[in-house]
Amino acid sequence: MRALRRFTVRASLPEPLSALSTLATNLRWTWHPPTQDLFASIDSRVWSEVGGDPLRLLSVVDAGKLESLARDEQFLLKLHALASDLERYVNGPRWYQRRQDEISGRRERGSSDTPLPTSVAYFSMEFGVHEALPNYSGGLGILAGDHLKAASDLGVPLIAVGLLYRSGYFRQSLSLDGWQVEHYPVLDPRGLPLELLTEPSGLPLLVHVAMPGDRMLRAKIWKAQVGRVPLLLLDSDVEQNDDDLRGVTDRLYGGDQNHRIRQEILAGIGGVRAVRTFCELTGHAQPEVFHTNEGHAGFLGLERIREYITNDGLDFDQALTAARAGAVFTTHTPVPAGIDRFPVDLVQHYFGAENLVPGVNTQRILALGAEDNPGMFNMAHMGLRLAQRANGVSKLHGEVSRDMFRGLWPGFDATEVPIGSVTNGVHGPTWAATEMSKLLGASESDAVDNKIGLGIGAFEPVTDAGLWELRSTLRGRLVQEVRRRLRESWLQRGASALELGWTDSVFDPSVLTVGFARRVPTYKRLTLMLRDPERLRSLLLHPERPVQLVVAGKSHPADDGGKALIQQIVRYADDAGVRHRIVFLPDYDMSMARYLYWGCDVWLNNPMRPLEACGTSGMKAALNGGLNLSIRDGWWDELYDGSNGWAIPTADGVNDPIRRDDLEANALYELLGSQVAPLFYDRGEDGVPTRWMSMVRHTLASLGPVVQASRMVREYVETYYAPAAASAQNVVGEGYRGAKELSSYRHRLRASWTRVRVLDSDLVLGGSSVPVLGAPVIVRARVELAGLEPSEVDVQVVLGKVSHDSDELKDVVTAPMNYAGNGNYEAEVPLPHAGALGYTVRVLPRHGLLASPAELGRVVLAS
Ligand SMILES: *Cc1c(COP(=O)(O)O)cnc(C)c1O
Repeated sequence: MRALRRFTVRASLPEPLSALSTLATNLRWTWHPPTQDLFASIDSRVWSEVGGDPLRLLSVVDAGKLESLARDEQFLLKLHALASDLERYVNGPRWYQRRQDEISGRRERGSSDTPLPTSVAYFSMEFGVHEALPNYSGGLGILAGDHLKAASDLGVPLIAVGLLYRSGYFRQSLSLDGWQVEHYPVLDPRGLPLELLTEPSGLPLLVHVAMPGDRMLRAKIWKAQVGRVPLLLLDSDVEQNDDDLRGVTDRLYGGDQNHRIRQEILAGIGGVRAVRTFCELTGHAQPEVFHTNEGHAGFLGLERIREYITNDGLDFDQALTAARAGAVFTTHTPVPAGIDRFPVDLVQHYFGAENLVPGVNTQRILALGAEDNPGMFNMAHMGLRLAQRANGVSKLHGEVSRDMFRGLWPGFDATEVPIGSVTNGVHGPTWAATEMSKLLGASESDAVDNKIGLGIGAFEPVTDAGLWELRSTLRGRLVQEVRRRLRESWLQRGASALELGWTDSVFDPSVLTVGFARRVPTYKRLTLMLRDPERLRSLLLHPERPVQLVVAGKSHPADDGGKALIQQIVRYADDAGVRHRIVFLPDYDMSMARYLYWGCDVWLNNPMRPLEACGTSGMKAALNGGLNLSIRDGWWDELYDGSNGWAIPTADGVNDPIRRDDLEANALYELLGSQVAPLFYDRGEDGVPTRWMSMVRHTLASLGPVVQASRMVREYVETYYAPAAASAQNVVGEGYRGAKELSSYRHRLRASWTRVRVLDSDLVLGGSSVPVLGAPVIVRARVELAGLEPSEVDVQVVLGKVSHDSDELKDVVTAPMNYAGNGNYEAEVPLPHAGALGYTVRVLPRHGLLASPAELGRVVLAS
């Protein structure tokens, strides 16, 4: 008989063991090996059966076992030590609190440093904290999870918000002929490390969001505790909801546009309401800063505007100004098809009745998402228009984003577009193998301070032989895992156990192991390695220097193209001639990923440059001494230094994609066969590949500290959260004086700007007739201010190189011009370059509350 429904009953713990429940529900155990060891010691067999999940362990472990542990002095001692360690971790001061103390000390001495925000809300559609809470699809979610964990380690007061999906993302298996098959196991939130937020009466607290046709979408709020950080997850599976609305949070990235916009409305608008409720319930400080992780949750800005209008009596423009000040938007994709967009009609359908965010004008909402195509509403554009500060996720991606979104700031050079970058990072304690952290002498406090003991000095005492032995152990562990998963996959594909003897000997723990695992959108080029199947075969089967290749990745369920690529790999790997050297493992997730990052010698990445915004899997491999072999895209573009791995040359400028793939695949084979493999197999007398190990050391030393999420979160705090909090305080204080002033300034600009004009200008060369580099020149201009005050604009001279066939200014230098009365401006500037130069004069808005001169997208150029 099959169960009609499933539900989970938590074990009742004997009183002396009650602390186990705290340790099991705070997800800090996921990156705290001593806590994992404690749970494993309860029953190591059950621990591995339940996949290292404390709550599941507690619900299945024998009651007698728990009774005897309740009397076991040794166990209780360890339990209480860990419980007080967690208590200190959660409540004690950490990096952020020390920074706050430093800043307030300086402020007492009269400095004008702005205080750090007392609370920051972080919105994301997915969070990958651990496979025990499968609420993510891939990189974006895992990045969000790593962000929370690093924020927790650093003591950053974050509240995270997202949705709880009843079936998470899909689980992947394969059909006999290698086609992806999707499963959607239903999760019972009561069996997950979650707590339901309830009223004092015990009834669930509900968030309400109005739907068209006078309907109401309600959602429960679950809380996961990620170290110090509460993660609120909204769940629409509420009895009072209509059936279709009950299913809003059924799956991550499943369903049509209508389903998706409902999810995003719930995450954004419902998300803000959940944060408000949570803060009122717990006394937690209300957030000063709102961080939108990718466009999906962008509707949160509309709810904040509604709050300012309803609660504080601001008009739309003032409310927009106030909401923008505390908002940070992070964009994650340079792939146009990856940008989240909705038909305008659909947005109109949900927002048109004006009861979803009452008082917020629908036309103004539509304008926030406007793009080139008048029929589409663009969530990234809205994100950018609703946030005073924005960033991409690597230096290269910042550059690509400035170019991609420059249309929102017409008249400015791409370099001036106000989108910065914070390069992603990964959470060291989550992704570095425990043995690696130990060997390199990393302690938890190091991890917090972002060192993880990977400075070269810190691990010089470790010998090459010692490090090599650990690398070999990790590779061996991966080989075991590959065999286990391959066998399971074949059983699922319909093979009989009797014919699977061969899976016990696939892969060899001493062979150079290359990993390639990621989602399967086209730009990641899963099958580039198959460009020349014979050439790959000869690399795999090389008599002295063989390579073994482990491949994994999920294709979006609606993407048959991606599934065909997977099938191509699977069919290749099914061939009896190579199947011992290449495998495709289905169901790539965090539980598989860690074995790959620990055990692979080389991490391969071959996206179509520059479409990989950052990429993080290579960072995780690097933390374990894996060497990257990658196209110079995303993070690798800025952190490859010539000896910490290999850069696959790109055929930049070759537009024919087929030819480009040929060239780049060829470069990949070439590198693997003639550089990577020979280095790996070049052994000293003790069997240690000395030159390889020096690259491993250099990788650990040069990348170890910078690829970590602690570095990333500190950058967010210093360059985004703190300035955003300061801006927010400036616009909100004294009854929203700043918001009102800035908004009225924007009104005045709107009225005058089309009439502002540079009437004429000239450039006077000093002294000698032939100007020399560095010689001062005087530039004068006369400007029609159209009623604006001279203090309300900046007039600048822009000097740069020009080429013989174009007046386009290059390598520009800008200098402010001084007001000399009567609309006259003047500046003296040294000539910045030799050769052919040109100049122009431009007028920009000036207001103390703008974060950048380009912010308003207004500029008048001399013509
Ligand atoms: C890190 C990670 C990703 C993202 O890797 P990219 O290099 O950004 O593609 C995806 N899935 C899992 C399971 C991961 O651990």
